[in-house]
Amino acid sequence: MAAPKVAVVGAGVIGLSTALCIMETCPSCSVTILSEQFSPNTTSDVAAGMLIPHTYPGTPIHVQKQWFKETFTYLFAISNSAEASEAGIHLVSGWQVFKNTPKEELPFWSDVVLGFRPMSKAELQKFPQHQFGQAFATLKCDCPPYLLWLEKRLKATGVQMYTRKVADLWELHSEYDIVVNCTGIGAHQLVGDKKLFPIRGQVLKVHAPWVKNFIRDGDGLTYIYPGIHRITLGGTREKENWSLSPDPGTSKDIFDRCCSLEPSLGGAQDIQVKVGLRPSRQCVRLQREVLSQGGVKLPVVHNYGHGAGGFSVHRGTAKEAACLVGECIAALQDSSSRAKL
Ligand code: FAD
Repeated sequence: MAAPKVAVVGAGVIGLSTALCIMETCPSCSVTILSEQFSPNTTSDVAAGMLIPHTYPGTPIHVQKQWFKETFTYLFAISNSAEASEAGIHLVSGWQVFKNTPKEELPFWSDVVLGFRPMSKAELQKFPQHQFGQAFATLKCDCPPYLLWLEKRLKATGVQMYTRKVADLWELHSEYDIVVNCTGIGAHQLVGDKKLFPIRGQVLKVHAPWVKNFIRDGDGLTYIYPGIHRITLGGTREKENWSLSPDPGTSKDIFDRCCSLEPSLGGAQDIQVKVGLRPSRQCVRLQREVLSQGGVKLPVVHNYGHGAGGFSVHRGTAKEAACLVGECIAALQDSSSRAKL
């Protein structure tokens, strides 16, 4: 069979990293990315990009840990290379603080991040409203630069990219052998996934270069994540809210909450507001499916539903999706050689 033609639908962090993993595992494939939006207009551009995993209740913890570990290892190597600044990847140290000691003092990812330890009493003096904390260093992606870096790598390997809204995956059956669905929240409409819902997040991106450490309230709602050029202040988690319009009252609330953790943020400049819809599900949909109409078949691989943790696990899920594409190719080769007999 000729080089398989693969269409990846979606150009957020999941679509781009999945396309890259497909090229790495199957260099003879011809990969095309089709997407309604590219950076800087995706949910992935809004994210803070911190590698602190979210927990998917429907996925075994050892699988989530493996996804996180693969992502951490991949980005750690970039952060230690000459590409780090262009790719927007850097290490950042800081604290996760809790008003009450959590039931689980050691999260499943504690031995993947660097130097994880309980905070000392002296460190906790910085946070008078909190009584327990964890100190560690993790990686952060500056999202638009990282997406552009992925796009550049893809173009260098010959991947084509086109702006196109796909109304139905079946419309691609005459042009492609395999379709990979990485449409994030777009999958709600595209494949009618009723288990997928938005969790709206509003954040502020500010200039405050003197803040060097991350601070995250253990409830996950308030956070200060310093990037290379700007700091992300968050946030909100509003289930089933589809609005992409910034709310000024929410911005003030986020700013006040962050200032109560780090009062020097009162002097932050150039405050920009961003909103994104986290594509949320009980578990990431990483699955093969075969669409068929009138005896014609189209193999599809789904990779969407990463909710609040897409950056933290993107490389791990992309590798798994690329393996599923490999299985689809093997099945196509098998049926084409049987047809010749
Ligand atoms: P998207 O980035 O939304 O990409 C989907 C792509 O599919 C887009 O290009 C879109 O145009 C395209 N598309 C959709 N429908 C169609 C269609 N019908 N036809 C063609 N193209 C289509 N995660 C972390 O790990 N760490 C964090 O610190 C973090 N912070 C966050 C903060 C906020 C405020 C938000 C909102 C999210 C945060 N996340 C974080 C989560 C992370 O942003 C998501 O998990 C991740 O971006 C999902 O990536 P995606 O590629 O699946 O989706």
